[in-house]
Amino acid sequence: MPDGLPLIPESAPFDAAERAWLNGWLAAYYGVAQPTAGPAPAEEDFPWHDMSLPLEERLQLAAGRPLEQQLMAAMAQQDCGQCGYLCKTYAAAVSSGAEKSLTRCVPGGKPTARTLKELLETGPAIPVTPVAPAAAPAPPGERAARVMARLEASLPLNREGSLKDTRHTILGLAGTGLTYEVGDALGIQPENDPETVTAIIDCLDADRDMEVDCPDGSRRPLLEALARACDITRPSDEAVEVLASRAPDADESQRLQALAEGYPGAGPADADLLDLLLTFRSARPPVQELISALGALQPRLYSISSSPKMAGEAVHLTVATVRYQTRGRWRGGVASTYLAERVAPGGSVPVFVQPAHDFRLPADDDADIIMIGPGTGVAPFRAFLQERRARGARGRNWLFFGDQRRACDFLYEEELVGFHHDGLLNELELAFSRDQNERIYVQQRMRERARDLWGWIESGARIFVCGAVAMARDVDAALAAIIARQGGLGTGAAKARLAKLASEKRYLRDVY
Ligand code: NAP
Repeated sequence: MPDGLPLIPESAPFDAAERAWLNGWLAAYYGVAQPTAGPAPAEEDFPWHDMSLPLEERLQLAAGRPLEQQLMAAMAQQDCGQCGYLCKTYAAAVSSGAEKSLTRCVPGGKPTARTLKELLETGPAIPVTPVAPAAAPAPPGERAARVMARLEASLPLNREGSLKDTRHTILGLAGTGLTYEVGDALGIQPENDPETVTAIIDCLDADRDMEVDCPDGSRRPLLEALARACDITRPSDEAVEVLASRAPDADESQRLQALAEGYPGAGPADADLLDLLLTFRSARPPVQELISALGALQPRLYSISSSPKMAGEAVHLTVATVRYQTRGRWRGGVASTYLAERVAPGGSVPVFVQPAHDFRLPADDDADIIMIGPGTGVAPFRAFLQERRARGARGRNWLFFGDQRRACDFLYEEELVGFHHDGLLNELELAFSRDQNERIYVQQRMRERARDLWGWIESGARIFVCGAVAMARDVDAALAAIIARQGGLGTGAAKARLAKLASEKRYLRDVY
């Protein structure tokens, strides 16, 4: 191992096999090929598949590895399942040619799609295990498990004065046969904003009733195709290329081509299809050609925030409604505004359950759990707490929650404070970031309680983190620092301890 890299000392409390694995992990983490080219560690231990690392870093970690693993590094979004595969099986299907679409990764967006394309064009000619199309999971359009849930309520969780609109969404499952467990996510198949769809059809001067073949393989009238089957918020590079090839204005054509190829400064990288049609007025391709080049409208996943033992035949979600203004138009998150604004109470919502891989309560009800979930990250922990109550679990529960302001952003305040008062929550640490001049985040509360946290970890507690990627990255750093200080370890050894906790499924993250 080259100089300067942390190594696990002989004196550290690991056996030889663990030490070898951890040293290999550290080598990979610091961007150096592992000394022995043995088989890759178990699936979820791939360091290049750590969703809290930026894309570039993940690709560096996977450099020199087989194409499938590099493709997986480009996805690296914790097997969320929105594409209909797991990252590993999507990578295998793409590299074998069984799957042609490179735009399925919702969390990865365009950067992932572009990297997949580059890797396929320039990637190593390392033989891959062919994946027969039949062996791959059904693509999203054919996923059989979708059922129609009934929207029972979409209740505001923020109070007056908040900058946010987070909803407690209740979906009825009676008669659907759908079941779930805490830790699972619910997939929502949304519909696009109808005003945007109509504006696109107007720009194209098209007949809304014309039948078109959709990216998901269905054939439908254009209006329905754009509303239900096509990704219009993130037009694929192929769709932008179609616009470029059909723009008679040479300047527009060149700019669109540059945009499709991802040149910085070529145009707004976050342009939706309507933006492009409004900006590039000469680009008016034949409708079918454009529709075929768009990606399929993918489902969105939300962590379930109820226990089936408490919610009966219903499932609860905690949904941040995304709304913002750009280039003179209001935009919204496709699924969050669909749930908050476009489905009336009593209306039907196509859903499926995406089972959690590891993000589950310990089977041992005596095990302690530490839950770190600011903002909507609290969702699975509300479900965990309900479940532990229903099971009469005796293990201790500690929640770190935070949001902007206590007066208006304390999600589920009554319930969580109640859980604390009645003893279900042994510890509740709160970080309201904007109640004072300097931002206070959950990590600060973790540092303040470092000694107790260390005590819980040493006595076998599981650590769960849920929420935004940047938070999870900072919480990871805070945990490593706490372990280093409290455990008297160097930085490398503390990171290795965290990696070991992850490999033992005692440090689990659900990050978006
Ligand atoms: P959030 O914006 O993540 O904020 C929650 C709290 O975390 C705030 O107090 C925030 O402080 C703080 N925070 C910001 N950066 C942090 C960091 N690096 N470390 C620790 N704490 C940090 O809350 P959210 O409402 O859950 O929104 C998360 C985002 O995820 C939204 O954009 C949402 O659209 C998206 N998302 C949500 C869902 C869902 O609704 N279930 C699913 C997928 C994606 P400040 O704001 O004061 O900085």
